Amino acid sequence: MSKILIVAEHLDGKLNPATARCVTAAAKIGGDIHVAVLAADPAAIAAEAAQIAGVAKVITVARAENAHALAAVLAPQIAKLAAGYSHVLLPSTTFGKDVAPCVAALLGVAQVSDLMAVDGPHAFKRPIYAGNAIISVTAPADRTVVATVRPASWPATGNGGSAAIEAATVDAALPTHTRFKGLAAGKSDRPDLQSASKVVSGGRALGSAEAFSIIYSLADKMGAGVGASRAAVDAGYVPNDMQVGQTGKIIAPELYVAIGISGAIQHLTGIKDAGTIVAINKDGDAPIFEIADIGLVGDLFQIVPELERALG
Ligand SMILES: Cc1cc2nc3c(=O)[nH]c(=O)nc-3n(C[C@H](O)[C@H](O)[C@H](O)COP(=O)(O)OP(=O)(O)OC[C@H]3O[C@@H](n4cnc5c(N)ncnc54)[C@H](O)[C@@H]3O)c2cc1C
Repeated sequence: MSKILIVAEHLDGKLNPATARCVTAAAKIGGDIHVAVLAADPAAIAAEAAQIAGVAKVITVARAENAHALAAVLAPQIAKLAAGYSHVLLPSTTFGKDVAPCVAALLGVAQVSDLMAVDGPHAFKRPIYAGNAIISVTAPADRTVVATVRPASWPATGNGGSAAIEAATVDAALPTHTRFKGLAAGKSDRPDLQSASKVVSGGRALGSAEAFSIIYSLADKMGAGVGASRAAVDAGYVPNDMQVGQTGKIIAPELYVAIGISGAIQHLTGIKDAGTIVAINKDGDAPIFEIADIGLVGDLFQIVPELERALG
């Protein structure tokens, strides 16, 4: 039977919802599911993880060096914790994409990336070519599987569990070449782009950072997160952590509103699993309309304020 270790992603003492999505993927693999919380003070995060249905045990590693998510610091500890586990799973978020390859390298295995479906304990499906093709991957059964789980492909497992929480000490030498210097992060009261149920995104058509304010305004009316196309990011209208797509964030909101975005394949990759897609574009032949559930052809500078007024 498989024994699966999920590495919890967290920030400011709160568990990232991507962890509960990894639990869903782990349940599909089948077996004992444990969650590892590496933090300076893991108590509150572990308590959250213990409530996820299907989690049998939460293992905490409290260490001052774990205050910040540095792959070089976390990976040697995770590699030690991995002993006895058949699978180590992390979400394919920025965190998981940073840490998992280091863990895989330390265990001497090839990582399976972006797991989107499970066909068996060692047989998985993952997207390639910007999501245009799906490949079946078989990992060797005699080695630990280190995999990242594509959060957009898996619903989050709900609460209802009451797993035991166990403190562990890990005897792993930490590197001296990497240390935390500081974190420069955008601060926003808006819902987080990757976990928001509604997202409004703007594209090149906005024309400037100032004009992009109509996107924020509509999003705030809707209680939505805000995203952008790469063209909008490259033009400096918004910071790059808002980019949706192949080289940005892969998201799966229930509602995605694409405004002044043409629908390039690299952008669509990021919203493949979105529920309802609404597109506003002045070009009725724009490719975004091929995947949109609702399309409004017209000038966004007219439609968006109208829409906002209609929302009251
Ligand atoms: C390797 C690679 C990776 C990439 N990764 C990403 C990625 O992660 N995310 C991403 O988004 N892109 C990515 N791209 C870029 C992608 O190919 C497109 O260039 C980009 O998505 C275009 O952004 P856009 O739709 O905002 O701009 P455009 O393609 O220029 O489209 C603007 C749209 O706005 C419409 N418009 C103009 N004025 C108005 C108006 N007043 N009212 C209404 N509509 C209007 C136009 O009709 C047009 O359809 C990547 C490209 C490469 C090569």
